[in-house]
Amino acid sequence: MNITFLGCNGGIGSHDGDPQGSSCLQLSERVLIDAGTGLERLSVAEMLNIRHVFISHSHLDHIACLPILLANIIGNNDDGPVTIYGHADTIAALQQHVFNYVLWPDFSQAPAGLPPTMRYQVLEPLQPLELDDMVITPFTTSHTVPCFGYAIKKRGMHTIYSADTTFTPALIEQLNQLEPADHFIIECSFSDAYYDLAVATGHLTPALVAQVLDAMQYPPTHVWLTHLKPTYAESIREELMAYPQWSICADLSKY
Ligand SMILES: [Zn+2]
Ligand SMILES: [Zn+2]
Repeated sequence: MNITFLGCNGGIGSHDGDPQGSSCLQLSERVLIDAGTGLERLSVAEMLNIRHVFISHSHLDHIACLPILLANIIGNNDDGPVTIYGHADTIAALQQHVFNYVLWPDFSQAPAGLPPTMRYQVLEPLQPLELDDMVITPFTTSHTVPCFGYAIKKRGMHTIYSADTTFTPALIEQLNQLEPADHFIIECSFSDAYYDLAVATGHLTPALVAQVLDAMQYPPTHVWLTHLKPTYAESIREELMAYPQWSICADLSKY
């Protein structure tokens, strides 16, 4: 396994009754990127193995299951806390708005003599971090709140995950500072019929994905579309038929 898509939707709900999860990628049995509702695909035993969670940004579709994951792990982490990585503003938002003893306990504090369940680690853009058999590099995307995408080097394969973003020169400047990648997991939240809404909310449409790829110095060979918003998914899929060289992510698929 290189990466498993536990949740690759920009929301919840499906048209055929099969559950569809929001953003969550599994890089290894210990490492996740984002903790949306796709995280529910893991068994309890698999959840107990998680020790590193890279958060792209503070929006709920990317963090919804993080507090409840940690509640499963509490008391089962003698080997150390789960590290939550992200932009300084993302970490501050989690501290202020989620793990504040109102919405959820502060699991970075030691409860009842137990070791803390989590710790925070602030990341800087374009500063690589070595972890197990991977090198993970955050980069800044263009969304409505501070947001990191992540570039993942693992076993000779290089993957870029865009997280949430719209098309801006600043995004391209960041992408072009990364090494050429084999795979690009890029969001496509809206159809082109909702182009203005996509730009206003910091997202992409098929035409905007094409603009991003055209502007990249080294466009990756394999393009995976993710974060389709369920309400718009059918019209996005129709428009994506014009781009047969791209793949659409599916929950539980892996490469
Ligand atoms: Zn977002
Ligand atoms: Zn999102």
